[in-house]
Amino acid sequence: MKVLLINPNQFRTPPAPPIGLEFLAANLEQAGHSVRILDLCFSDHIYSDIDRVTGEMNPEIAGISIRNIDSVLFADNEFYLDSIRQIIVHLKKRYGIRVIIGGAALTADADGLLEYLGADYGIAGPAENVINSVLLQLQRGEKTERIIRGYYEPYSPSPRCSTGIDYARYYQEGGIAGFETHKGCSSSCVYCIEANSPVAFKNPLNVVEDIREFVERGFKQFHLCDPEFNEDLDHSLSFCTALKQSGMAIRWVAYMKPGNFSQKLFRVMKATGVYLVTLTVDSFKKCPLYWNDTEKVIFNARSNGIKIVVDFLTGFPYEDKDLLKWCLDFFRRLQPDKVNINTYIRLYRNLAITRIILGDPFLYRFLVGNADEKSMIRPLFFNRINNDQLREFIAEDEIFRIEGTQKGVNYTRLSI
Ligand code: SF4
Repeated sequence: MKVLLINPNQFRTPPAPPIGLEFLAANLEQAGHSVRILDLCFSDHIYSDIDRVTGEMNPEIAGISIRNIDSVLFADNEFYLDSIRQIIVHLKKRYGIRVIIGGAALTADADGLLEYLGADYGIAGPAENVINSVLLQLQRGEKTERIIRGYYEPYSPSPRCSTGIDYARYYQEGGIAGFETHKGCSSSCVYCIEANSPVAFKNPLNVVEDIREFVERGFKQFHLCDPEFNEDLDHSLSFCTALKQSGMAIRWVAYMKPGNFSQKLFRVMKATGVYLVTLTVDSFKKCPLYWNDTEKVIFNARSNGIKIVVDFLTGFPYEDKDLLKWCLDFFRRLQPDKVNINTYIRLYRNLAITRIILGDPFLYRFLVGNADEKSMIRPLFFNRINNDQLREFIAEDEIFRIEGTQKGVNYTRLSI
């Protein structure tokens, strides 16, 4: 089939290359499909670009990658779906093309997105191992589920095709290439769309080869696209060992969670070029062991010369101000390079935190945003501590930054 893959993401502070489409394109090509990636990130005229490419290749089906529903932050929230919906309407009405949506955003609410956007099919989860069977069903005219659950076969080959993606421009504008060592996350953070998603590891040697292709083209700075790097200590160590043995001199940034680490892991991370770790921390019902792990991760990063930024989500139901004060003192004592605090919790209808909040009418008063829309596709937040109150607690201590006050900081963090 002739397949057009579209990246509609025009967020550019910094721009993020559509890595999912690259894996998808390579898998489609291997199965004999004719594929083209249309990356609209830097497009000034998206409809003329769509019309030009559609005219050139006459696609039978389009795949649209949706990275985020909105910017997730309360301040100056940007909602992305309306412009994507217009693209889908254009493709369907003008060209009669069926549209499949996929990407990280579908993990939040695949049914809701499919309905909102009016697409034909949605693949929730990794699409590269299921896309070919979906296309086969469509080619044969067989009945196809509208929502297909994607998965990644552990250690399966993970080819990547970046034709059509202008990486030089991405790097020029502050974006960098990403790589991933696994899919999914076994943690159960109540506010996270990745929580309890199936974990499947990639072969570290394949990931290293993936990186090598970019290095040979002159790109040497990377960011990690895993939900969190340290899903499994042994696998993280295996990957770092393989990367070190490759002899490639790269610099990269990683996302981590408290847990699954060792002193050795930080030493090999540093040896492979990690210069910044973003640590995800929240205050919801935590035990002393969690704070102990948080402390040790910060300590190990710092003692190995790796910068560390904490993304701290707080202000959950039933928390009091004493807990916030305790957390701020905790971070003041540990002195990571920066702590980004967010007290606005984005709700989606399938999240555990949403069920907790909807189960207690007392909490409804803390909903801000589109509270009258049950779908929760348009931004809805839970907030008990607003930014003015937070500013008072922080008391101009420069180690803290209120999330959302700088555009793009929660997207692809490349520096503190
Ligand atoms: S550890 Fe990170 S990715 Fe995993 S569920 Fe928690 S916030 Fe999400």
